Amino acid sequence: MSSTSKHVILVTGGTGLIGSAIKHVIETEAPNSRFGKHDGEEWIFARSSEGDLRDPVATRELFAKYKPTHVIHLAALVGGLFKNMKYKLTFLRENTLINDNILHTSYETHVVKLISCLSTCVFPDKVEYPLDENKIHLGPPHESNFGYAHAKRMVDVSNHAYHEEFGCNFTSAIPTNVFGPADNFDLEDSHVIPGLIHKCYLAKKNGTPFVVSGTGKPLRQFIYSYDLAKLFIWQLREYNEIEPIILSVGENEEISIKEVADSIVKAVGFQGDYKFDTSRSDGQFRKPASNAKLLRLIGNFEFTPFDKALDETVKWFLDNYHNART
Ligand code: NDP
Repeated sequence: MSSTSKHVILVTGGTGLIGSAIKHVIETEAPNSRFGKHDGEEWIFARSSEGDLRDPVATRELFAKYKPTHVIHLAALVGGLFKNMKYKLTFLRENTLINDNILHTSYETHVVKLISCLSTCVFPDKVEYPLDENKIHLGPPHESNFGYAHAKRMVDVSNHAYHEEFGCNFTSAIPTNVFGPADNFDLEDSHVIPGLIHKCYLAKKNGTPFVVSGTGKPLRQFIYSYDLAKLFIWQLREYNEIEPIILSVGENEEISIKEVADSIVKAVGFQGDYKFDTSRSDGQFRKPASNAKLLRLIGNFEFTPFDKALDETVKWFLDNYHNART
């Protein structure tokens, strides 16, 4: 991005976990530093009440209001496994509508660069590990969330088509499991870290056991939302490919659900009975993703140590319990 002309960066889904992390980083890093706000930049963090992006007219109105030159597209219908399994068509259709509206309106309004957010669920169910950027289309995604996965996958196809037919600079990012302040801490429909933080908090408060679903053995890569935010800002300013890029900690930083639960117990200060409900399903044992491309292109980047990031997340949850999504 050149520092002379004015840039308006629209972040869709700007109030969510990742959007609010980008806002935090842009506002707290030193101005004109690698991740801080640059002179000539205006950042807009849109919420759904400003415009329902499933609706093409509302999407055009949002773009007409802010006239973005750059877009980070995070808005999506998201949900846990149960919701994904139950509402496959809704996930496919609503996300397809949102993505088509954002891509096509970006094309129509001559947006200079658009980054859309995919997810590792775009990868084939049966594939050789580690996952990397060349393996997205090698087979069908896992059947449990194929609606959501296909809608996300098609963004990569569309990015290439917009580039080839119209020369658009549309690309995408693939984060692994994200956690941090402002996450969804709902007990039923959240990701593993916020769900366990909430459960552990309630166990401490009510003097009941802290029960973790499954054996605790599966391994996952977790990225702190504030680190991911920096990677999005880097991608916006410095990454010049249409091809997606995986934004993640390294494969060697996979941690088990038991290690996650141990850290949560420590961070929450829980001293009661703590156990695993092995009658509950574990899901996939591991699905490591390679961050080799990211490390090759970004040069120096320091990820926040997991325990520090978790402590900050727990602190945010305790400080914001009454306003958090629970
Ligand atoms: P959140 O649920 O925290 O935020 C979702 C955002 O999308 C909210 O700001 C919401 O707005 C907005 N949104 C939803 N539907 C619409 C709509 N119809 N019109 C306009 N805005 C809408 O999600 P995350 O921050 O976790 O996720 C952001 C992106 O990252 C998503 O694309 C997701 O697929 C992807 N991702 C997330 C991962 C994770 O672990 N969290 C992992 C990999 C990818 P509002 O709140 O105002 O209603």
